Amino acid sequence: MSQIDSDAANVVIDRTARYPDAPPSPTEEYRDATAKRASRTSTNSVETTRTALGRTLQLHRFSMTMEVGVSLQRAIELTSQLTLVREDETIPLITASGRTLFEDLRSMVDDPRFDNSAMDGWAVREADCKEVGAILRIVGTSQAGSEEIPTVDAGEACRIMTGAPLPQGADAIVMVEDSTVVGDKVTIDGPARPGFIRWKGENLTHDTVALRAGTVLTPASVSLAATMGHANIRVVRKPNIAVIGVGDELTPPGEHLSESSIYESNTFGLSSLVEKMGGTPMRFDLIKDSMDLLRETLDEAAASCDAILTSGGVSMGEWDMVRRIMEEEGDIRFWKVMIRPGGPPLFGSWRGKPIFGLPGNPVSSHIVFTVLVAPWMSSSMGSEEGTRPRLANRVRVEMEESLKGAPGKLCMRRISIRQEGDKLLGSTRTHQGSGNIHSMVAHNGLSLLPPDSDCQEGDTIDALWLL
Ligand code: AMP
Ligand code: MG
Repeated sequence: MSQIDSDAANVVIDRTARYPDAPPSPTEEYRDATAKRASRTSTNSVETTRTALGRTLQLHRFSMTMEVGVSLQRAIELTSQLTLVREDETIPLITASGRTLFEDLRSMVDDPRFDNSAMDGWAVREADCKEVGAILRIVGTSQAGSEEIPTVDAGEACRIMTGAPLPQGADAIVMVEDSTVVGDKVTIDGPARPGFIRWKGENLTHDTVALRAGTVLTPASVSLAATMGHANIRVVRKPNIAVIGVGDELTPPGEHLSESSIYESNTFGLSSLVEKMGGTPMRFDLIKDSMDLLRETLDEAAASCDAILTSGGVSMGEWDMVRRIMEEEGDIRFWKVMIRPGGPPLFGSWRGKPIFGLPGNPVSSHIVFTVLVAPWMSSSMGSEEGTRPRLANRVRVEMEESLKGAPGKLCMRRISIRQEGDKLLGSTRTHQGSGNIHSMVAHNGLSLLPPDSDCQEGDTIDALWLL
C-alpha cells in the first residue's frame, strides 16, 4: 500500500486503493460521491467525502464543472472560459511584425500627403494634349522631395518623377514613353491621363483608423503603420508560457542516457510551437514523476508565467502525476478529448493560471497543441479572427489511399498533401504511431476524419494543411 501526504491538506490518501488495476473514471466516482452532499465532512478546513467505493476524496479545489471525454469543439469552448491576462507594451515598429495591436492605430497624416504623379513623365493640362503631336514648352522639373515646383500654364509641360508633387495648373500626366524632347520643347505622342495622378488623402485621411486593435501585424501592416507615422506602437505583451516536461524516463538531449531513459523532445517541440503562436516559451527543468516536485514546479510556473503547458502524466496510470495533482489540488475543466491521437489532455487552472496538461506521446502533444492550444492562445490574446497566427489551414483533400478512422473519435492521421492541377491530393507514408514524431516531419497534413468514419481511396476529406 502506498501512501502519499498531501501538503495542502495534510490528509493521507490511499492511492493504491483509489487507483486499482481497472480504475473507474475518477470523475464518475467523484460525481456520484458529491451528489450526496450530506455525506460531506470537513477536516482541517478541507472538505472531504466518502465515495461509493469507500475512498476519501478532497473536495476543496476539485472543480464542480469538470467534463470528461469532450468533443474537440466542446474542448475549445471550455478553454475560452479561462483566458490570458491581456497586457500591453510599447515597442519599436521595426520589431512589431507578428505582434497583436493593443489599440486602434490612427493615421497621423493624409496618404498621399499631396497630389502626385504615379508615373515618370510630364505634368500637363489635359486640354493641351487632345491631339497626338502637341508641342509643349518645358517649364522645369518636379522631383520627389523637391520643394519648389513650377506652375504649368496653357501650352506648358513640367517634367515629373513618380511620387513628385503635381505642379499647380496641371491636371494630367503623360508617360515619358509617350514623349519626345527636342531642346526646350516636348512633343506629346500619347494620351494625357488624369488617372495617373494620385490625389491627396485618396488612400487614407488624417486620423482615420486603418489598423484595428487585435490585428496581428503582417509585413504589410507594419509598412502601413510606418506610412501613418508611427515609430513605436502599443502591442499585446507576449504571454510567457511555461513548458514543463514530466517523466522519470526523460533526459535532455546532450546528456548521458541510462539504459531505461530516452531523450526528451516535447518541451522543444512545444516551445517552438508557442513561439510560432506569438508567445514566449519558458522551458522549465524536466521533472520526475513526483507529486512534490510537480507541485513546486507548477507553483513556480504559476507565479512567473501567464499560462502553463505540461507534457506527460495525464493518462490513467498510477504515475500520471499531472492528472492526479490537478484532480486533487487544481481546478480541472475537462479531461480527455474525443480525438486520436491525443486523447488524454486536460485543461483547467493552477493557482489561477490556465493550464493545459498535454499527453506525453510526442505526436499527441504536438497535435493537441495545434488543434487546441494554438486557437486558445490567439483568441486569448485578443487577435482578430482573420489575422490570427495559425499552424494549419483547413482544406479539402482527395485521398490516394484509404484511411482508417477511429470509433467515437475525430481521427487525425498524418497525411502528405500536394497540389496537382486544381486539386489537393493526400497520401500517407510512415508508420502512424503517436510516439513517432518522424511521422509529423514526413507529412505536412492531418486528416479530419469524423468519429466512426473511414475513408476509401478516391474520397475527398477535410484535412489540416500544416504550415
Ligand atoms: P505519459 O503520458 O507520461 O505516459 O507518456 C507517454 C509516452 O510519451 C511515453 O512513452 C513517454 O516516454 C513519452 N514521453 C513523455 N513525455 C515526453 C517528452 N517530454 N519527450 C518525449 N517523449 C515523452
Ligand atoms: Mg510519464
